[in-house]
Amino acid sequence: MTDRSTRYAFLPGAPNYPTIVGGDGCFLHAAAGRRILDGAGGAIVGNIGWGRQEVADAISAAAQGAAYSIPLWPTPHRLELHDRLVDRWLPDGFGHVFFTSGGSESTDSSLRLARAYQVAKGRPDRWKVIGRHPSYHGMTLGTIAVASHSARQKGFEPLLLPFPKVPWDDPEAVVRIVEQEDPNTIAGFIAEPITGAAGACLTASDDYWQVVTEVCRRHDILLMVDEVMTGYGRTGLTFGHQHFPIEPDVLIGGKGLGGGYVPIGAVAARNEVAEALRNSGFMYFTFSGNDIACAGAVAVLDILERESLVQRVAQIGPVLEHRLRAELDEHPVVSDIRGRGLFYGIELRCDRDAVVSAALARDLWIYPAGSGPVPNAVMIAPPFIIDTDEIDQLVRTLRATLDAFTSA
Ligand code: PLP
Repeated sequence: MTDRSTRYAFLPGAPNYPTIVGGDGCFLHAAAGRRILDGAGGAIVGNIGWGRQEVADAISAAAQGAAYSIPLWPTPHRLELHDRLVDRWLPDGFGHVFFTSGGSESTDSSLRLARAYQVAKGRPDRWKVIGRHPSYHGMTLGTIAVASHSARQKGFEPLLLPFPKVPWDDPEAVVRIVEQEDPNTIAGFIAEPITGAAGACLTASDDYWQVVTEVCRRHDILLMVDEVMTGYGRTGLTFGHQHFPIEPDVLIGGKGLGGGYVPIGAVAARNEVAEALRNSGFMYFTFSGNDIACAGAVAVLDILERESLVQRVAQIGPVLEHRLRAELDEHPVVSDIRGRGLFYGIELRCDRDAVVSAALARDLWIYPAGSGPVPNAVMIAPPFIIDTDEIDQLVRTLRATLDAFTSA
């Protein structure tokens, strides 16, 4: 009789990960009292840290006497979350939000949104959304197709639409591809402001973003920023694109909005874009704006606001960067350290999965990353509440982990 945990998750032979039974602050609790320092907020989700009773209470209160109502009907928590985002979180001019159950549904919806916008504008030939190489936007067929992450695409190629791709950092290539493909066939451009899982915090120049913004404006190509990882404070500003000269038309979020407590995502559009879609019948998902998830997200935003956690990321982020650089800049298996806020990528000269496993054996969780030009990397993205002692513990453990790879 095999242990239950070896039958999970779906694939036989999957690594035997620890069973997580709870958490507090920056620590995950595994069976038998084991405490694991969460250096990546789970999947770069856990921005407010773990074990927040207030969020549990909000979810529980919303679940008392709950009823399902279709997403077109308002509910108190849907309205509260929508208005909170518009009033306090989204950039000016973003007055409309479409809720989903996570990042992939959000990015996939943005592909539909770009197409619906162009059709509503009387441009039925526009369907292509330009993606970047490397990038990751989720695991629906649409998002796999528009992204460039070789391991996630492998084997699915016949199912994927041939969306055009450009390198992540080359402004000339953006100008060129729009001309080559014909702007009258292009609906949108989708980009992570700082590339997450596929690139481990690759960051393009201001010039690059200026050109992207100008080209999109010139041709009325919707500029859609995927803030699923970078949004809701992760980089030290409310949204990652705010570090750069980017003027988005569509802002895509997930992960940190629910803080890992509830599955929720949100796609916000500039008012002119939403206005154009007014009669398009933009279809929702059954669980778009699930009332309990909205209540949980409001509680997460309450905590971020009350504890000034986005500002805290801006303050403590440089402490993490300084410690990482002091310990690892010259390390023989480290080829680059990059990022900002509490969002760091460490590019490696050794196998990332082996590093992630070795770190976990030392009770530190870090996130595997990289694709294409970034074959091996890990990401460090702890909860926003991490303190300097925990940063020390994280960096010391990471250093010891990597030291063991120097002679390998
Ligand atoms: N977009 C980005 C930038 C992501 O990093 C991810 C997930 O890692 C997604 C989209 C997909 O989100 P989810 O896994 O919640 O569906």
